Amino acid sequence: MQSFQAPSRILMGPGPSDVSERVLKALSQQTVGHLDPTFITLMDEIKSLLQYAFQTKNELTIPVSAPGSSGMETCFMNLVEPGDKVLVCINGVFGMRMKEVASRAGAQVETLECEWGEAVDPAAVEKILASQPDIKILAFVHAETSTGVGSDAKSLCAIAQKYDCLSIVDAVTSLGGTELKVDEWGIDAIYSGTQKCLSCIPGLSPVSFSSKAVEKIKTKPSKNFSWFLDLTLVMDYWGQNAKRAYHHTAPVNSLYALHESLLILKEEGLEAAYERHALHHKALVAGLDVLGIEMLVDADIRLPQLNVVKIPEGVDDAKTRTTLLQQYDLEIGAGLGKFAGNAWRIGLMGNGCSKKNVLFCIASLGAVLNEQGHQCDTDKALSQAESVY
Ligand SMILES: *Cc1c(COP(=O)(O)O)cnc(C)c1O
Repeated sequence: MQSFQAPSRILMGPGPSDVSERVLKALSQQTVGHLDPTFITLMDEIKSLLQYAFQTKNELTIPVSAPGSSGMETCFMNLVEPGDKVLVCINGVFGMRMKEVASRAGAQVETLECEWGEAVDPAAVEKILASQPDIKILAFVHAETSTGVGSDAKSLCAIAQKYDCLSIVDAVTSLGGTELKVDEWGIDAIYSGTQKCLSCIPGLSPVSFSSKAVEKIKTKPSKNFSWFLDLTLVMDYWGQNAKRAYHHTAPVNSLYALHESLLILKEEGLEAAYERHALHHKALVAGLDVLGIEMLVDADIRLPQLNVVKIPEGVDDAKTRTTLLQQYDLEIGAGLGKFAGNAWRIGLMGNGCSKKNVLFCIASLGAVLNEQGHQCDTDKALSQAESVY
């Protein structure tokens, strides 16, 4: 056995995304204790940078020490009182996961099933909430990574408020990539991940809770099923003016990396980051179109950071992805769930959302498709993408 040597890949799948040198350098610094005074200062800065990224003043805004799915569990385990009726909107794999987690938290789950490739319909949500006033929580995915669809979180949260429901929003793929305003939109509980548009390493889940949500957490009669994710305990470590008492050993180096990636986002500015994602998405779509690769999702609900495309007729899905990885060091994502085998997912997330990556992806994909007998004009595709810039 030898030390592991990671290949240098270009990550253009559904996450993780390319981690910058700056973030890697932050990560590799010497580990300090999780109660070291310098580390406590770093924790405070991370909270404030997360508040910026989420656009919130919520005091309870912290990174959970585990990947995006743990943020999902944190929301449901802390907000669901067993027996609570919860409406989960499902328009892809992560909505399905929400349903599973909600039921494990003891919820009585109602679902709104939407077509794959479509957004959650606010009118359909309103109809259900109006007819079932005992629903306590509305849950949905803002940016569905399995289908490349963005749902209208602003309207959905306004409807939740109108019917006196708390909202739980999955922003794993949206945070840092597309507009997200926690306070303005009245989101009560939100979770994200670090390995998508934040371009940090995987393994952390930023979450934020409104005062209404915190009130429910504090007054919930039942004991949380989870010890690790019980926010009333976690807050003794992360809370403002908290005891800073040991709860679990924080992933110290990962938090160095998160701090750096959030700082990069703040330096660029949220608006500029959204514009950058929109621009490179436009160029990618223009180039793919010339290669004969169509988008699966309607333009008005497409996510710029996650492009779900149809695999052209006669092209071998697995062989193409394997060739891209082996010969070009380029990773793109396979289709998930109902889209498995007939779609690819091309990510333009965070640090990986660049002109260099767009052109590289078009050039490599064009070459591999030609090898496979799908004739296409790569040069023309590249110049079409260039023309967007
Ligand atoms: C990636 C993703 C998750 C899960 O995050 P993990 O870090 O893999 O646990 C949840 N929801 C959405 C929308 C995602 O894209």
